[in-house]
Amino acid sequence: MIVMKFGGTSVESKEAIARVAGIVESRIAQRPVVVVSAMGKTTNRLLAIASSAVAGRRQEALDQLAQLRDFHCRESSGADAEIEAHFSELGELVRGLAVMGELTPRATDAISAFGERLSSRIVTAAFCRRGLNAVHMDSRKLIVTDRRHTQAAPLFAETYARLSVAIPPLAKNQIVVMGGFIAATEDGVTTTLGRGGSDYTAAIVGAGIGADEIQIWTDVDGMLTADPGILPGGYRVKTCSFAEAAELAYFGAKVLHPATVLPAIEKNIPVRILNSRRPEVAGTLIVAEAPRCNNAIRSIACKRNITLVNIVSTRMLMAHGFLHRIFEVFDRFETPVDMLATSEVSVSMTIDNTRALASIRAELETFSEVSVETDQSIVCLVGDNIRQTPGVAARIFGALKDVNVRMVSQGASLLNFSLVVAAADLRRAVESLHAEFFRDPDPAAFE
Ligand code: ADP
Ligand code: ASP
Ligand code: MG
Repeated sequence: MIVMKFGGTSVESKEAIARVAGIVESRIAQRPVVVVSAMGKTTNRLLAIASSAVAGRRQEALDQLAQLRDFHCRESSGADAEIEAHFSELGELVRGLAVMGELTPRATDAISAFGERLSSRIVTAAFCRRGLNAVHMDSRKLIVTDRRHTQAAPLFAETYARLSVAIPPLAKNQIVVMGGFIAATEDGVTTTLGRGGSDYTAAIVGAGIGADEIQIWTDVDGMLTADPGILPGGYRVKTCSFAEAAELAYFGAKVLHPATVLPAIEKNIPVRILNSRRPEVAGTLIVAEAPRCNNAIRSIACKRNITLVNIVSTRMLMAHGFLHRIFEVFDRFETPVDMLATSEVSVSMTIDNTRALASIRAELETFSEVSVETDQSIVCLVGDNIRQTPGVAARIFGALKDVNVRMVSQGASLLNFSLVVAAADLRRAVESLHAEFFRDPDPAAFE
């Protein structure tokens, strides 16, 4: 068995779904289990509808809903009764939200789950019309999570048990199609795995059924040496390690959800990133240990919209417990810290989620001076080779001689070197680093 996950753009239209059907059909001998995202930008559109509804713009929400319904009807042909039933349920939910005027995390999940609930049925129907023997499975009956709505964590033992009982017998002679991203609590309340979470579903399903491979089909040729949204023209990474992929995903390579490789590592299942518009391209293979490569780094990831927090306390000179006090504040306000640099009396750190920043700042200011810089970016160079290549730092700073580097971190994970630069310098920084490290790409590792 293999798991084949198709992202939003890969199922955004009738034509795209037909392409997917062709790709799945060509791999039928490997007994594919198919995981699909919501069609195109449906998740964003559902969340926008929910916001309009709770903000009292009821008619606007209903109009947006009608447009979303038209889109789904137009891009499917067949499954009409199911689509209608889903939109009537969704309509009730939206009207309810407009009355309540409040959007709880639980309601957010109920709304955003419709994207994958619909797409998985539409794709199943399209496969069947083509003559493929496809069967739909509701992921909410198989993927069991905790109750942390919008960011739910799978309960692995129960989930794996359900997957291993339900899927292999069906997959013997049928193509199982499931929605990614969506799941449910033990008592059946709908949850979601976080934005971009369909990749994670694919990995969980792969681990649960002991798949031979987990394929992530998307709109790029694989993991590239730079984020194509920032620097087009990067090389395709032919192979990388689980550790490298996890690091790249964590530091912003959206092509893979950060949790995706965890189930794959646990069961040692290869992950392959492939392009649904160019299925002939070999993509990127992610395995426990990638073959050696002559370049010091494998790829450069970036995270935008980062906030830098600088904390200085001369009172803490020679005193202990400074870091403890700082982290206790971030912890209390449930704000994760991504990057960190410290010296005796000062600490710099980056955060992604600024929801509680004003309160955090007020608390920190009771024992230190705080300055905050917004519009920062993290640039992260990743490669298993970094740890054994001398002179990497010199090359990085050489390449960035005209860029103001705000913060640096290396050490914790030996395969990454991270820097903070202002958003305005991001493109220039990535360009210079890419030119420095990929001037001479090893043809065995990059294309
Ligand atoms: P899907 O809808 O298929 O899940 P995503 O939009 O989530 O697709 O992820 C694919 C996108 O990830 C690409 O279109 C690209 O813009 C972005 N991306 C960011 N960094 C990288 C990288 N290093 N390599 C490839 N793609 C990247
Ligand atoms: N549809 C969800 C999202 O847009 C999950 C996914 O596509 O991976 O975040
Ligand atoms: Mg994605």
